Amino acid sequence: MPEDLRLLTLGIDLGGTKILTAVVNPRGEMLSSDESVTPATKSREAVIQSILDSAHRALKHAGVAISEICAIGVGAAGISNPEAGILFTSPNLTGWRDVPLRDIMQERLGKKAFLINDANAAALGEFYFGAARDVRNFIYITLSTGIGGGIVIDGKIYTGAIGVAGEVGHMTIDDNGPICNCGNRGCWETLASGTALAREARHRIKEGVRTSILEYAGGDVEKVTAQVIYSAAEQGDSLAKKLIARTGYYVGVGLANLINIFNPELIVIGGGLSHIGDMLLEPAFKTAGERAYKEAFQAVRFASAGLGRNSGVLGAAAFALQEMRKPLCE
Ligand SMILES: [Zn+2]
Repeated sequence: MPEDLRLLTLGIDLGGTKILTAVVNPRGEMLSSDESVTPATKSREAVIQSILDSAHRALKHAGVAISEICAIGVGAAGISNPEAGILFTSPNLTGWRDVPLRDIMQERLGKKAFLINDANAAALGEFYFGAARDVRNFIYITLSTGIGGGIVIDGKIYTGAIGVAGEVGHMTIDDNGPICNCGNRGCWETLASGTALAREARHRIKEGVRTSILEYAGGDVEKVTAQVIYSAAEQGDSLAKKLIARTGYYVGVGLANLINIFNPELIVIGGGLSHIGDMLLEPAFKTAGERAYKEAFQAVRFASAGLGRNSGVLGAAAFALQEMRKPLCE
């Protein structure tokens, strides 16, 4: 990453629930940031307008004109082709199919733009500024409502033939498992995500298992979330503890697959669910150790994501700078 701090980029993190934009320098310092709610149920134009509004606010807060920006990096939730700049589909954004998001941003903001998947952006954020700094071969995973991932090989994001690589959340773990948003059955995220944990808890509660989880959800079974389950577990609720350990077990099954396939030096784990910590990760690492090749498991380190919720926006900004190359910016 060039050290010329004049090379500012605009990072955009488009998620299904929030839009985060930031003006970022090459050290990964944010000169300003802006967060807004994604108007996911509104039209495509309304979402695009929200992104543009957020971008203009971030620029204004930083006191920077768009002409002073080197490039724009857009990290978007969903399946995309970075080379073509097309977002194929995006969860929560209904009606978004094959959207040329890179070119739309480029035309509407008047600056060169680049598109990347949000988890891949987060992986790059960790590579340039976070827990994977100077690590050439690693895997980033985010355990959240779903499971996302980014695979960095020899310092570059591995995107595959058309940009879909790294969709680790959709590797099949149980061929008879729950149906996934992608249409498949038993994907990793149907068993090891926050959504999976909450679904399993609701199921057990409806079966009549005794637990305090319901109290933490205000008596409404539909309000049971991973966070609620964690609160109950911390107070010693045995079902909550058992369900978190079970989720950790499935996290570990997926980790073992990744370790055997990629033999990474490092796996960086982020996402809201990972904040549960040892209660989730100890069974995960134990299971990974039992299932992966011993040599490969001994060679891998695990680290928590260092950038928190900013990994995506910082990574999108870094991606833009990486793709632009310095001479073109000056
Ligand atoms: Zn799936």
